[in-house]
Amino acid sequence: MNILVLNCGSSSVKFQLINTDQHLIELNTDKRLAYGVIERIGGPALVNFSVVNADGSSRSHREAIPLRDHSAAIEKIVQWIISQEANIPGISSYADIAAVGHRVVHGGEELTSSMMITDSVIKQIEDCIDLAPLHNPQNLKGIYAIKKVFGGTAKQVAVFDTAFHHTLPDYAYLYAIPYQFYRRHKIRRYGFHGVSHRYVQYRYRTLVGLERESVNVISIHLGNGCSVCAIKGGRSMDTSMGMTPLEGLVMGTRSGDIDPAIIEHLSHKEGYSQAEVQSVLNKQSGLLGISGLTNDMRELIAEAVENDDRRAKLAIEVFAYRIKKYIGSYLAAMNGASAIIFTGGIGENSDYVRGKIANGLEWLGLHVDFDRNAATIRGKEGKISQDGSRLDSWVIPTNEELMIARDTFRCVMGLELPR
Ligand code: ADP
Repeated sequence: MNILVLNCGSSSVKFQLINTDQHLIELNTDKRLAYGVIERIGGPALVNFSVVNADGSSRSHREAIPLRDHSAAIEKIVQWIISQEANIPGISSYADIAAVGHRVVHGGEELTSSMMITDSVIKQIEDCIDLAPLHNPQNLKGIYAIKKVFGGTAKQVAVFDTAFHHTLPDYAYLYAIPYQFYRRHKIRRYGFHGVSHRYVQYRYRTLVGLERESVNVISIHLGNGCSVCAIKGGRSMDTSMGMTPLEGLVMGTRSGDIDPAIIEHLSHKEGYSQAEVQSVLNKQSGLLGISGLTNDMRELIAEAVENDDRRAKLAIEVFAYRIKKYIGSYLAAMNGASAIIFTGGIGENSDYVRGKIANGLEWLGLHVDFDRNAATIRGKEGKISQDGSRLDSWVIPTNEELMIARDTFRCVMGLELPR
């Protein structure tokens, strides 16, 4: 079954076309046929598509073309996928794309697993806009666009970033503010990056040969957005992002945890409106805010290592220190774990940052193997701790699109969804 996986942002659409079915899932041989992104939708957009060849290499197509909205962008993607130019084996018409899987950021308390998109599910995703005003409207644009491009009967599936965390116990998801605000406004921790943490959990147990119920790990997703997830018995029991993705770790441009009193203070001192303070915390903080240079970890490391830049070094220190604190607190909350697992652009590629985080965790039983750590970059998967370490460390490159494609297949076929 050919599944189109969509991730719609405010002015971009990322896609992958994945061929999967029950047999391929069991053998872990589902195939990515094509992938790409359209950026700067709403003006002269930039198109960057690739087809994966049989030998694993890829051929690319780039162009700049005006695209008015998400519908136009998705139409462009589909037209290209079925075109002779793309020449994807077995795909030459709309009918060859069996279903579309959407990454949807917020499912609230009701939408707790992947599901077929019906009118009532659309209504429920719309109801969650209040909780995720920056994200859900963009995801909905993709859903409306598919209806327009494929017609009302198109099979669409929503895979929620929050769903993996629906197993959080109440003492982990409640904020200590008056309980009526949870009742009235659903203010609580939801958590995000759930598709990624779920993939890491699944992949770890496959690699190590464990049943889901025996998986006790801390999954650390470090990309532009960053979050940690305590996974006990294969289920999320706590996670660092909160009601929104702003809470928790230091991120590219987000502050993560701060004293809430800073908001009023900053507003008072700088004359900022509520929206301006939110913008500072979401877009001008984190690695960018501390370094004053960039939110890109690669560039920061270069500044720190090659130019000995004080603020670049400080940004990385603050970043790593916050992660250490979460590891410690989650190990206590979980009563121990067997491994900490790194994923996301920084977690998968930076042995430097992983080394900084792991350094000083020897008391917890973590002993990183220098050579393994240095060698496990650029998409490689494996253990980076020494054999015999009481607490292991792994790198597992995330694959959210694969999870979305598989869930889409299962929902379309009416199969049970694994957690
Ligand atoms: P997103 O959250 O947008 O999906 P990614 O998971 O791609 O982001 O992660 C982006 C981050 O990964 C950036 O900060 C980037 O600098 C960092 N990164 C990518 N490669 C490396 C590398 N080799 N060393 C350090 N950081 C890297």
